[in-house]
Amino acid sequence: MSNLIIKNGLVYDPLNNIDGEKKEIHIKDGVIVDKVNSDAKVIDASGMIVMPGGVDLHSHIAGAKVNAGRSMRPEDKHFEATMKRTKLTRSGTGFSVPSTWLTGYKYAQLGFTTVAEPAMPLLEARHTHEEFLETPIIDKLAFPLFGNNWFVMEYVKNGEIEKLAAYVAWILKATKGFAIKLVNPGGVENWAWGKNVNSIDDEVFHWGVSPRNIVESLAKANEMLELPHSIHVHCNNLGHPGNFKHSLETFELTKNIKPKSSVGRKTNFHCTHVQFNAYAGTSWRDFESGASQIAEYINLNKHITIDAGQVVFTKYATTTMTGDGPWEFALHHLGGTSAWGNKPGVKWINGQVEAESGSGIVPYFFSPKVGVNAVQWAIGLELLLLVKNPYQIAITTDHPNGAPFTTYPQVFKWLVDRKARKEMLENISQKASTATTLPDIDREYTLNELCIVTRSGNAKILGLTDRGHLGNGAIGDVAIYNLNPEKYTGHDVEKAFSSAMYTIKDGQIVVKDGEIVATPMGTLIRAEGKIKESVYNAMLEEVKLHWRNHYSINFNNYAIQDEYAPKEIVVNGKL
Ligand SMILES: [Zn+2]
Repeated sequence: MSNLIIKNGLVYDPLNNIDGEKKEIHIKDGVIVDKVNSDAKVIDASGMIVMPGGVDLHSHIAGAKVNAGRSMRPEDKHFEATMKRTKLTRSGTGFSVPSTWLTGYKYAQLGFTTVAEPAMPLLEARHTHEEFLETPIIDKLAFPLFGNNWFVMEYVKNGEIEKLAAYVAWILKATKGFAIKLVNPGGVENWAWGKNVNSIDDEVFHWGVSPRNIVESLAKANEMLELPHSIHVHCNNLGHPGNFKHSLETFELTKNIKPKSSVGRKTNFHCTHVQFNAYAGTSWRDFESGASQIAEYINLNKHITIDAGQVVFTKYATTTMTGDGPWEFALHHLGGTSAWGNKPGVKWINGQVEAESGSGIVPYFFSPKVGVNAVQWAIGLELLLLVKNPYQIAITTDHPNGAPFTTYPQVFKWLVDRKARKEMLENISQKASTATTLPDIDREYTLNELCIVTRSGNAKILGLTDRGHLGNGAIGDVAIYNLNPEKYTGHDVEKAFSSAMYTIKDGQIVVKDGEIVATPMGTLIRAEGKIKESVYNAMLEEVKLHWRNHYSINFNNYAIQDEYAPKEIVVNGKL
């Protein structure tokens, strides 16, 4: 592997307290080091800024649901989203749900090198990994779904937290997963009976447990296992007016659970795409933002991190997809979108995974002229601007739910430039100005803060210490953008971050002048938990005993084989 020196660039590396300093970055055999030999390849980054490779902690890029979204919407293959085949790259298409190859290329062109797929159904994990194998360049993580799983609910009901932890440890191993994901805990199981849960104390039918019990138990199991990431939660009542109160109640559940100090994080709860859970009002008529109440809570409480789930208006409908089956049913009736325009929805997929989870998919068009949509756009930005500590919030669009990830540079523009926000507010439904606090917010992100919410903080939230920074020993993932940090507008930021001058993956140049120049295969990152072997074995015996009653497949065919992850890193202790 060749060595590389990046010279003359202005470096942003917040985790090492470097804020726009001229500094050389040396990479040897894919890893950042103090110094390499003078025969190394040199990149002259004069007039450019240098940051660690981007880290996306929540983006639906692979798996059965994502692929169902692709086949559901042939009209998503818009000409602008197409990439032609070259000697090096494959062709690809898909505006809101890009094909696998295109996903890898487009992330690399934005300077992103690590992406987490946040909803992996256990039984369909093989599909997720098959698509990972066809998604080039970026490193990938997947979060298995636990919030509506029958074995989980059995252990929660019995108060057997250690066995629950053992079950989680086994699933992480069997599915090659990274973190505990909960989607509408309890609600998706009730959806199998045509119902949902409306509060954290509603009962899950036939189990006698509540969302409160599920969240608390899995948070405790997470700490017992000493996993790198917190539990990653999609709250109940997503998408409903007034739900901010419910979100705050959920945040409180883990307040007194102590994060294991050995894993180096002080948080124990990550609430995802909070924009969809920060709604005030009592109905769609008096719908307004609850973002300031959420931000106030985050500013006072250190056990929690969130990501934005920002909405961005695009020319075409996006494809919403989630493990929250009942929400997609509601969205389908609220005005999902027909194939070509903004007419009420005609398409809807509902999914059920035996004994484990569910899902739903609905195309949806966010219109800047629709009051509710304009408020949703403003809420994401309010959260990003009102949360004071950038290490407690990450930029996401919950790709493709709020918008495709390719729109990130627009979000960066609004964060660094209040004039750009004002321009938007003047051109969209006035509801965004009257039902939110956005017009009153003056804050503008610095490039250092932008670096935190797109990479440094995100790596930290995930518990990945080998990336998100440019210190010695970090992997050689670097993004270089053409921007003069002395003088820029939001539009300059959008332009620069839309197309990296260089993206470097593990020390190899993969993007140059916005073009893909190499397509290495990224690494799968998975985690393993610490658990007593005796408990682990006892849990497995119990699971096997119940297997035939719950599953239509043979136990021995459940765990996915190592061939599905030829390149992997395991974070944390071994079993
Ligand atoms: Zn999501």
